[in-house]
Amino acid sequence: MTTAPNTLFKITRKTDGISAAERERIVANPGFGRAFTDHMVVITYTEGRGWHSPEIMPRQPLVLDPAASVLHYAQEIFEGMKAYRAADGGILLFRPEANARRFRKSAERMAMADLPEDLFLEAVSQLVSIDRDWVPAPEVGTLYIRPFMIATEAALGVKPASEFKFIVIACAAGEYFSKESATVSVWVEENAVRASHGGTGTAKCGGNYAASLTAQMEGKAHGCQQVLFLDAQERRWLEEMGGMNVMMVMEDGTLLTPPLDGGTILHGITRDSLLTLARDQGLTVREERYAIDQLYSDAASGKLKEVFACGTAAVVTPIGTFKSAHGECTIGDGQTAGPITSRLRQGLCDIQFGRAPDPHEWVKRVL
Ligand SMILES: *Cc1c(COP(=O)(O)O)cnc(C)c1O
Repeated sequence: MTTAPNTLFKITRKTDGISAAERERIVANPGFGRAFTDHMVVITYTEGRGWHSPEIMPRQPLVLDPAASVLHYAQEIFEGMKAYRAADGGILLFRPEANARRFRKSAERMAMADLPEDLFLEAVSQLVSIDRDWVPAPEVGTLYIRPFMIATEAALGVKPASEFKFIVIACAAGEYFSKESATVSVWVEENAVRASHGGTGTAKCGGNYAASLTAQMEGKAHGCQQVLFLDAQERRWLEEMGGMNVMMVMEDGTLLTPPLDGGTILHGITRDSLLTLARDQGLTVREERYAIDQLYSDAASGKLKEVFACGTAAVVTPIGTFKSAHGECTIGDGQTAGPITSRLRQGLCDIQFGRAPDPHEWVKRVL
């Protein structure tokens, strides 16, 4: 990893933090998305001047002009990544340069400032380093890291902003889904779509998530934890979940996932890593369109053995049931992860936590 000198960042340490004992209590049972660390990184962009004034400071509320573009026109992008505690106490990142690259792509799509990849990586490393005590033990979870960029220019005219802030926050995180059951149930959304060709589906932007929430509410009302979106044109082809990609395991051991070439599916780093691991494990991998009606009939005939969702936050989460306005279908026994899902999840986690060889050089040690 390229590292700029530490002196680049102005560092203000939190002095009135909670006690070490209190932090240890939180980090031992963190939940997801609430146990925020002590610090944040803020880097400012001004047109004509570029990125400047990198700072690490105590985590605190932002001061924004009420006319800031992000509040009106949603110029916002983000990333999601994790730091993993290795058995020797060290701290590892997983393919962080892939997040840095995707962040630039998202920025380009949303007409936002281009953040150099080494600055992204340095900011993440600096935050992990200063908040290292917030990284849970491997049996508890991970440090979830949220880099994001917002348009801060105060201007109501519709145009790309000339001022941005890049910010990194983090939280200690346990399992994303509560463990009442090993599987989740998924609502098949037949009306709202997440992305359409030419839209923003391949950018990791907040707006995509806002647009997915009514479907999530509807799913929840039907007892489902997640939503599966279909393609915008025919409402027929599987695309992905609101924040995770989807994969199927067929009877003959083939791993199948929707292809990225339609320009509507987010290029998940977990997706890419699992396809690589599956090939390493000798599975046949196919990136092909798969119709929802086919899913129902293959589930009924037994041709479809396992389905799972994958992404940084939820890692690999087996799907037990699909529900739609038209009915319900069960995958496998509906309750437990299938053998290939389990093997892929284990293989990925073993690399991420530094327990297994890393032939693709995905892991970067921070500390
Ligand atoms: C972040 C995200 C994913 C998962 O990407 P990872 O890089 O694997 O974390 C999948 N779909 C959407 C819509 C996302 O925003």
